[in-house]
Amino acid sequence: MGDAAAGRTTGWPIARRGLMLVLSSPSGAGKTTLSRKLLAADPAVTLSVSVTTRPPRPGEIDGRDYHFIDAGRFDAMVARGDLLEWARVFDHWYGTPRAPAVAALAAGRDVLFDIDWQGTQQLREKARSDLASVFVLPPSIEELEKRLRSRAQDPEDVIRRRMTQATEEMSHWAEYDYVVVNADIERAFADVRAILAAERLKRERQPGLSAFVRELQGKL
Ligand code: 5GP
Repeated sequence: MGDAAAGRTTGWPIARRGLMLVLSSPSGAGKTTLSRKLLAADPAVTLSVSVTTRPPRPGEIDGRDYHFIDAGRFDAMVARGDLLEWARVFDHWYGTPRAPAVAALAAGRDVLFDIDWQGTQQLREKARSDLASVFVLPPSIEELEKRLRSRAQDPEDVIRRRMTQATEEMSHWAEYDYVVVNADIERAFADVRAILAAERLKRERQPGLSAFVRELQGKL
């Protein structure tokens, strides 16, 4: 179901509210690959592009992977209330711009957030009923290290610190609605799609249902 259904109150397809799908994991667990696959496969999903003060990695594109901004602009966005959530991760600031996410949800689209546990906590406090959160775990610590190294984009000391941080990040798994172990990317992708499909069918996400059922019952 796409945008066409968003403004409708009766009939098929049934109008539904967009949901906020959060994917979190330690770096290297495959969350970015899962996000890209989901965006390619499902046109109803929009990615929330974060702002960050971290410099771009090779191959990263401003506006696609992140909006790369300096600390001054980041502080100004916080002060104006332009960020839905924000957090310091490793040595940099990251935040979710409010306006694009709110506009996409209002249009009945689902918004995908690739954010850490701190940001997820903030979104949960602000929008519990709109949120579906998924934590992605690697199949083993050895596999996580292998994946971090094969990216070959970060220097050795950064990799070591990310391994340490991974242990800390993983301690937040129990705060999430769902946990997916990414041993096999296709299987993990199927799991994420199943979660999204079920979350979309939740009764409270389909505000057009009561009118639809009344119509089925011939009461309209
Ligand atoms: P990276 O520097 O590897 O792109 O991201 C580092 C971590 O920051 C990842 O766990 C990522 O999910 C998280 N992150 C990216 N954008 C945001 C954001 O807007 N808010 C929060 N809280 N975390 C973010």
